[in-house]
Amino acid sequence: MKFWFITGAQELYGEETLRMVASDSRKMVKGLNDGGRLPYEIKFTTPVTSDRAITKLMQSANADPDCGGVITWMHTFSPSKMWIEGLGILEKPYLHLHTQFNREIPWDGIDMDFMNLNQSAHGDREHGFIAARLRKPRIIAAGYWQDEETQRKIADFMAAAAGAAESRNVRCARFGDNMREVAVTEGDKIEAQIRMGWHVNSWGIGDLADMMKEIPDSDVGTALDDASRRYEMATDDIAEVRNQLRVKLALERFMKENGVTAFVTAFQDLHGMKSLPGMASQMLMEDGYGFGAEGDWKTACLLRVMKVMAKAKGTKGGTSFMEDYTYDLTKGSEAVLGAHMLEVCPSIAGTKPKIEVHPLSIGGKEPPARLVFESGESDAINVTVIDIGGRLRMIVQEIHTIAPLHHMPKLPVAATMWQTKPDFASAAEMWIRCGGAHHFVLSQQLTYADMKRFADIMGIECVRIGDGVCMESLGQTLMINDIAYRLGI
Ligand code: MN
Repeated sequence: MKFWFITGAQELYGEETLRMVASDSRKMVKGLNDGGRLPYEIKFTTPVTSDRAITKLMQSANADPDCGGVITWMHTFSPSKMWIEGLGILEKPYLHLHTQFNREIPWDGIDMDFMNLNQSAHGDREHGFIAARLRKPRIIAAGYWQDEETQRKIADFMAAAAGAAESRNVRCARFGDNMREVAVTEGDKIEAQIRMGWHVNSWGIGDLADMMKEIPDSDVGTALDDASRRYEMATDDIAEVRNQLRVKLALERFMKENGVTAFVTAFQDLHGMKSLPGMASQMLMEDGYGFGAEGDWKTACLLRVMKVMAKAKGTKGGTSFMEDYTYDLTKGSEAVLGAHMLEVCPSIAGTKPKIEVHPLSIGGKEPPARLVFESGESDAINVTVIDIGGRLRMIVQEIHTIAPLHHMPKLPVAATMWQTKPDFASAAEMWIRCGGAHHFVLSQQLTYADMKRFADIMGIECVRIGDGVCMESLGQTLMINDIAYRLGI
């Protein structure tokens, strides 16, 4: 994926000035690419000086599957009526970079030629007006282009655009429907595909059971050797560990063959399976696949998108499917214990995962192998997407993950704990007020700002719960958003 650098100008200043515009733009593209801070390459395009050239360029950007987005910058003044058609049809993520070629004013040499060439200070305002007038979703980044902070802003835009590109491509395989009678993991799959691009389709669990039979024993043996090196073997039930590895290999083969990057399982639908995929799901999440338990396809798709964004950001820590398990309500140090029946991604592990086999109290199948570990400490977010009726709402809760306060020898699952912002009770009240799910994606690698950029590109509501947010301000935000979405603003 590449991002197109589009420099705006106009014919008025003559050929010499336009040659300088092109030459400076090339230097900036090279400098940005050589800076080593961008997850994707920027591609130089010839500066545009007419409405026809702008429209043609935007058509090409739309048609190129490898174009991740466009970055516009006005070196000179570029009258914005020229941009109406082009920006109007633009479908790719759009960053307006507000910078200028020179850092300092050349005090002794500044003359009218310099002024004609270097007009970003007001040329970018003309450009910003037309994007505002067109209600065009965009990200605006201001700052000197050689500065680290400015380049980080471009990198952040690229990460959100990478999430958007991935979102349009996510294919989620459902092995089983939602857990019976559960509401929040339900939703309109058609709306999710229209708005987010999430393709959610169903396969029979029997198909997966058949695929498992086709996995050669030797492949399972190799996977067992690999797992024994990566994790600590803490069980004698090697047959079940091999079973989980066989599930993992079958799922992996199935997903590669079908172009699928996310999947869900359901403990109420395991016909032909020996046990619920626990360790298998954990290892696939670690490899970057999206996953949702109990048929939760929304969280599975979201996890896949966030894995791609986290990779583009290159930040430390992990990103996992998660559930609020139970609370520790010790006054003043309230914390949430987060875990799941089995399926937590080892990317958030602060300790070496142990392979253990224990019975599950529900589902009626054999005891499944799972990876057991405790998380590390980090700032993080919990992100959920719910179907609020006719549209999707994303809720982002700012948290701080900590290792569990005490060991839990009788709870044989991977676990983390976290403290919520602004405080325990307010955060819980606000999450519940928004309708946030008990399933979400926990990420130590992404922030609210990352998710907001992504949500803006996709055109969905994104609500923050964290420091500085209170129930009154949140209530107003939700009310205004409701009106805005009903009016189609
Ligand atoms: Mn669950």
